[in-house]
Amino acid sequence: MEFLFHSSQRADEFLWKPIKSGSLMSRNSILVILCLPLQLLYSQETLLLQFSNSITKEELSEHVHMLASDKFDGRYTGTEGQRMAAEYIQDEFREDGLDAAFLSSSNPFFQEFKLNKCYWKEQSLTAAGIAFAAGEDFNFLSEPENITGNYPVVFAGFGIEDPLYSDYKDLDVAGKVVLVISGEPKGKDGKYLLSGKSEPSRKGYYFTKAETAAGKGAVGLIVMAREDKGFRKFAHRTEDYRKRAEISYPSQEEEKEIFTIYTNLETAAVMLSTSPETLETAMQEMDSKKLTTSGRFQGSVEINTTDECYPMNTENVIGVVPGTDLREEAVVVVAHYDHHGQKDGKIYYGADDNASGTAALMEIGEAFVEAVRGGYQPRRTVIFIAATAEEVGLYGSRYYTEHPVVPLDSTYACVNIDMIGRAWNKMKDEPQFIGGYVYGSLDLFTLVQQYNKLMAPGLKDLVEYSNHLRGGSDHYYFGSNGVPSVFYFTGIHKDYHSPTDTPDKLLYDRMETTVRAIFGTVWALANSSEKLKAED
Ligand SMILES: [Zn+2]
Repeated sequence: MEFLFHSSQRADEFLWKPIKSGSLMSRNSILVILCLPLQLLYSQETLLLQFSNSITKEELSEHVHMLASDKFDGRYTGTEGQRMAAEYIQDEFREDGLDAAFLSSSNPFFQEFKLNKCYWKEQSLTAAGIAFAAGEDFNFLSEPENITGNYPVVFAGFGIEDPLYSDYKDLDVAGKVVLVISGEPKGKDGKYLLSGKSEPSRKGYYFTKAETAAGKGAVGLIVMAREDKGFRKFAHRTEDYRKRAEISYPSQEEEKEIFTIYTNLETAAVMLSTSPETLETAMQEMDSKKLTTSGRFQGSVEINTTDECYPMNTENVIGVVPGTDLREEAVVVVAHYDHHGQKDGKIYYGADDNASGTAALMEIGEAFVEAVRGGYQPRRTVIFIAATAEEVGLYGSRYYTEHPVVPLDSTYACVNIDMIGRAWNKMKDEPQFIGGYVYGSLDLFTLVQQYNKLMAPGLKDLVEYSNHLRGGSDHYYFGSNGVPSVFYFTGIHKDYHSPTDTPDKLLYDRMETTVRAIFGTVWALANSSEKLKAED
């Protein structure tokens, strides 16, 4: 095999360190991949094409069909189905020839850890001698916990504090429960006051309101739906939430969130010792005069809840391709393999979300091992992480970043693959594109674009650079620790988070090209001589 590379241009040698030669490349001879003009990429292209040949739509499809089969039952964190999927990935890593990350005789590819699984056992809410019914009159939005007490309740308008609008001026909420209306105020032009647009700002989200209230010393937050319809919709939606366990990340240093309850107008009025009509009038006053009526109503509520918590085991599956001269540094490739399990007797298959990314991860790992066997070992260590517990809060990738195989400050870049098998709804008629976001480094963005062009010339490149690190997938904890990250993602579609996200709907031809392009980028990252310049 070697002749193929030795007979071609020298660029190969700049990008790869042949294992057999044994000698380290001189620093000067190493060309910066980022700066390679396209004609010099010729021989590199030969190499990449050679090794990317092992990435095929047939194998991608096989992995997706297996992971999204009935057998794995939707791969919900902590279930038998998730564990079986982990074993499948471990077997594939082992068979492909990746190194195990851990010293364990039974499951050396598993990074095992514990999460907490909590259920609500009892929930009782009483005000003015009336006992309210959970699910009918109120719902907890926060995680199960034990709460006992009689709390003063104070009305705080929308529960928003902003230079443009405040409900907290002259309002003392310390030690109290704050009751607020859902949503946020609109200006005279009908646009949202805080955003100045027809879309609301983040300040209207209940968790933002909970943070604001907590910052003011409140012990709890009650959010009242303005319309009963809105409350009903949510009450119904959260029904299986209550039956189901909440999975949480055990962490001491974390600030505890305040309890948060969702309720309707009638219940809220009782807790504020007023009538629904008076409360409605106050809200209309707020709308027409653009002034808060916070502080106008006070009442009290007695809350008694208990929870039941169990520690639960889950695991990331981690395979490694060791590097050569830069082996102390790592490139991380991550894709979550968990999904939503079963709800109401229906399996949520998660074929696109994220059997697609997991299949890509395994195929890229296999291509790297092929390259090593072909005489070309990457300079940096490449760490392949099939992450668990993404859907319940990015807990697998979070655990990894707190217990990394290679320290994060030696982690050169993170490549996250989550949902690459379908197309955005708006793009469903022109799905021949590659999409995603780059965070933290414009150098990384340039490199991604270069390899998309090289490896996937037939796909429109829609990858964007973003100044705002957004959560929503497993690059988040890497990015927030300063690791330049790329998140490959081709969009939300009508089957997203539904039982209908099935393997038959994926675009395997396009996926093959996409995964080969990602392989090209990972390869370049694993072999580049330059630091990726970080942006603020
Ligand atoms: Zn998802």
